[in-house]
Amino acid sequence: MKVMANKRIAISEAKKIIDKYFIEDPKEMPFEAILGFENVFYQERKLSNCLGNMIRNGKRGIITINSDVNYQPQKRFIIAHELGHWLMHKDVPNFNCDDKMLHEWHNGSSKYEVEANTFASELLMPKLLFEEECKGKNFSKELISSLSEKFLTSLTATAFRYTDIGNESLMLVFSRDKFARWYKSSSDFEFAFYGKFPIPSDTITAAYYRGEIDNRTTERVIAKKWFTKDWNLADDNYLNELIFPIKSINACLTFLWQHPVKF
Ligand SMILES: [Zn+2]
Repeated sequence: MKVMANKRIAISEAKKIIDKYFIEDPKEMPFEAILGFENVFYQERKLSNCLGNMIRNGKRGIITINSDVNYQPQKRFIIAHELGHWLMHKDVPNFNCDDKMLHEWHNGSSKYEVEANTFASELLMPKLLFEEECKGKNFSKELISSLSEKFLTSLTATAFRYTDIGNESLMLVFSRDKFARWYKSSSDFEFAFYGKFPIPSDTITAAYYRGEIDNRTTERVIAKKWFTKDWNLADDNYLNELIFPIKSINACLTFLWQHPVKF
């Protein structure tokens, strides 16, 4: 039986670190000092098959980040994730975390990875600060970009956080090679996906994979084109679709949210 992740504990552990080290601006997270105080030796070196790992040796730990990781927002997230393992998962001697694990957020995935990701997300994008930044602003690509600059977090991690606690109800889809790998919806989003699926044609995301479009403007799509298994959807039910192409890995982040009906 799978054990459910305890997100509440992960969030409270992150808050403890923020309080303990007087973190006011998470962008300035003093990782070196924190790791030192928490008895963790930090290093960067070549790792095969994973982006980061944590080794526990009694009261001491070692966190290693793959030296191929150069993108600062990604590096920060991995360090925070490994720190989460160190603080919360004392019964496990070591973790080797790859890209897939760093994207596990749902029940059904590994409890340990979901907790480490939840910890990292709360540490780098504290709920109150994040909500403050979203207040009074409509969802847009500019908002996600500015949040990711403000918190020095990747677009993917920021998009995830926004889907969780932002002020627009939406569905976030991560696809790669024209295939939806994972998706996440706000708690009150109306429609649902089932299982993994190829990106439906007649969508903006499909047009991006065909090389037909290259921009990131918001466009209107018929909701049924995405939610093919939702039989209750009317033909004139529309959604907004916004894409963030990640060309380096032939991937795409897609946001879908309700299109206000105007007559
Ligand atoms: Zn991990």
